[in-house]
Amino acid sequence: METINAKIFKEMIIKAGENIIESEPYLTEIDEIIGDGDHGTGMKRGFTSVLKKLNEKNYEYIDDIANDVGLELLKSMGGASGVIFGSLFIGGLRGFKVKKVKEMDLKQSVIFLSCGEEAITTRGKACVGDKTMVDALTPAVSDISEFAETSSDIVEGIKVAYSGSLVGVEKTKNMLAKKGRAKNFHNKNFGVPDPGAVSTSLLFKGFYEVVLDMKEKGVK
Ligand code: ADP
Ligand code: MG
Repeated sequence: METINAKIFKEMIIKAGENIIESEPYLTEIDEIIGDGDHGTGMKRGFTSVLKKLNEKNYEYIDDIANDVGLELLKSMGGASGVIFGSLFIGGLRGFKVKKVKEMDLKQSVIFLSCGEEAITTRGKACVGDKTMVDALTPAVSDISEFAETSSDIVEGIKVAYSGSLVGVEKTKNMLAKKGRAKNFHNKNFGVPDPGAVSTSLLFKGFYEVVLDMKEKGVK
């Protein structure tokens, strides 16, 4: 598979959202240990509203979907992670030179993700090692970006990004939080993964599950 159209992109977000909603108890459990315990409910609220919005519309363009997803997350979640996860999609839009994008290939997907990552790090100022979602997002983006230099296979590219995010999640277990409220619970957060990093890996997991399914159904 070499391109993602609006229909596939919508399914990718829906699946990612469902994964996050399903994982609410686990996200709550780990944010209760290292943060203030609201990450799971915040993400569930955000993606429930995203799913509602996406399901009530037929989309022709990828940028319209990204815009709606970002705005729903910003509006419905509040708090640090509403801005952070919203910025992934709103920031990603800056990567499109033109509006009304019907499909994107692997290179365009990489640009979308890189712009989203840049928006998050510009806003939140977190670096790799600070025990945030950046620790999952940055390796995901750099791994898919490196992969895209020699291949245009979207399914394999997203798989590489998903694996990169999982490696990042594992590394957060051995970090002490420096950003967000988790930093107030310093001594307790060793050994537990960062909740936002886990959510990030769940996003990529959902993206991968959908493109893999499309490939298996023979979508070109
Ligand atoms: P809050 O911190 O407002 O309680 P959540 O609990 O929903 O928000 O989200 C916490 C997650 O937000 C953390 O696990 C971390 O991944 C992410 N986070 C916090 N601060 C930053 C930041 N400056 N940049 C990127 N991600 C951050
Ligand atoms: Mg919290």
